[in-house]
Amino acid sequence: MMRVARPLAILVCVAAGAALVSARQRETAPPERAVSAITANGILAHVKALAADDMEGRAPGTSGEERTVAYLVDQFTRLGLKPGNPDGTFVQRVPLMAFTGRPEGWFDVKGRRMPLAFPDDGIAVARQGLAEVSVANSEMVFVGYGVVAPELGWDDFKGVDVRGKTLVMLVGDPPVPDARDPSKLDPAIFGGAAMTYYGRWTYKYEIAAKKGAAAVILIHETGPAGYPYDVVKAGGARENFGLDVAGEADRHARVDMWITLDRAKSLLSACGFDFDTLKSRAVSRQFAPVPLGATASVTVKNTIRKIASRNVIARLEGSDPVLRHEFVMYSAHWDGFGRNTALTGDQILNGALDNGSGMAMMLAMAEAFTKLPVPPKRSILFLAPTAEESLMLGARHYASHPLWPLERTLADINMDIMNFWGRTRAIVSIGYGLSTLDEVLAAEAARQDRIVLPDPEPEKGYFYRSDHFELAKLGVPALHFLHPGAEYRGKPADYGQKMRDQYTTQAYHKVADEVRDDWDLGGAVEDGVLLFRTGLSVAQGAAWPEWKPGTEFKSVQQELWKRRK
Ligand SMILES: [Zn+2]
Repeated sequence: MMRVARPLAILVCVAAGAALVSARQRETAPPERAVSAITANGILAHVKALAADDMEGRAPGTSGEERTVAYLVDQFTRLGLKPGNPDGTFVQRVPLMAFTGRPEGWFDVKGRRMPLAFPDDGIAVARQGLAEVSVANSEMVFVGYGVVAPELGWDDFKGVDVRGKTLVMLVGDPPVPDARDPSKLDPAIFGGAAMTYYGRWTYKYEIAAKKGAAAVILIHETGPAGYPYDVVKAGGARENFGLDVAGEADRHARVDMWITLDRAKSLLSACGFDFDTLKSRAVSRQFAPVPLGATASVTVKNTIRKIASRNVIARLEGSDPVLRHEFVMYSAHWDGFGRNTALTGDQILNGALDNGSGMAMMLAMAEAFTKLPVPPKRSILFLAPTAEESLMLGARHYASHPLWPLERTLADINMDIMNFWGRTRAIVSIGYGLSTLDEVLAAEAARQDRIVLPDPEPEKGYFYRSDHFELAKLGVPALHFLHPGAEYRGKPADYGQKMRDQYTTQAYHKVADEVRDDWDLGGAVEDGVLLFRTGLSVAQGAAWPEWKPGTEFKSVQQELWKRRK
């Protein structure tokens, strides 16, 4: 669905005028004015506007996108921020395609045909934007966890050429037991009980494409995947999204598949293998690919529609003539799930907390930055990506087509679902411990008499499931806020987890994610001040945040920094 862009020339003029006014105000304003710009009423007003029914649930390519983008551009303009795109606009175009697939396929094992019943046995998705994609008689190879982790001396491929083949893979990280206590996982490899990126299904798809495989089949197991097969099944059946840009087709195998554990077991036993034996062999550095002596044939027919979507981006120019060419980024996705027309009654998935709250927080912080007596030395970017709910496509597009150099982007602070349930002693940083940004955050938290806690559920891999990760993957250090925090002031110990569980079961990605009367934004204000000060500290500081040694991102950051001038 193509839409006509707003008259951007007018917006640019308004922005320039507003910048002059706020520059004059800044000269006399005390620094406290900046922090006091982050208020409960201010945040709430943004959430109310962004989660209103007339925003239609903010689905990309709908009138909801038009209104959401217009709201964000208006707010950035009102604050006197500069357009975040060097072309003078507040948007970055993100060409998307949406596709619904109809797969068919079978395995051939020793002259026996084993038909696949989609979607009960598995799902198959072809992401190249083609009306029909086929893989015929492709040799199947079991590649264990499909992991290539040079920093851990781990390579499941051992140089075996798998081009044109169909890779059968386990989900999750290899669960390597701790030699000192085999009842536990070794914390020194693949994060112990925590999930690393090697455990995510997106990684498995990416490594298969990188290796030139024709197709990849992930074996679903509820434990390591983190969700039951029904979730996979629903994901395969609905409309999927991809980037409609050159080079994208090369980033995917022809067909990405999952199959149920039962189907995998019957396939492997028909091939003369036992699933549990293969699986235990895969938990070793010595593992090498196992040809299964079977072939896969799969065809996917796609119905495709194109969507012209946008990231929204604003910039506060730094005050130092040299350092203004370096950046600290805040990000919060704007998209939601739109309408569910299958529902009777309320059909709008308002997305008040996910992610009206993150955008509201970002806007409040943007306001705080504009109220500083002098802008920070480095420039600040405020990015609201599209299509986060569809594999972070907006952020991925930004990362592969950055508007400002990634090698001079010091950090991304990402907000996706904020704490609207009261003040806490502890803020939870997803991925806590991965980069030196955590020390900056902890120091600022201490100034508020608060502490930082790690994700209580690191095995679920939340760090790899929102926009900041697309930048992290390319070496940019990132913080991610998704958890409502812990140790609520004046509440029972389990209060935060209870509120979170209640939100997850009743409202998350549902019509019930709406503005509520019982919200308490006291904690959001404190978190806002904390994240504002954290970003400010990086923007003013001498040290560049770094990924810590042993993380998946350290070597990529070293590569990225080679491009720094
Ligand atoms: Zn979200």
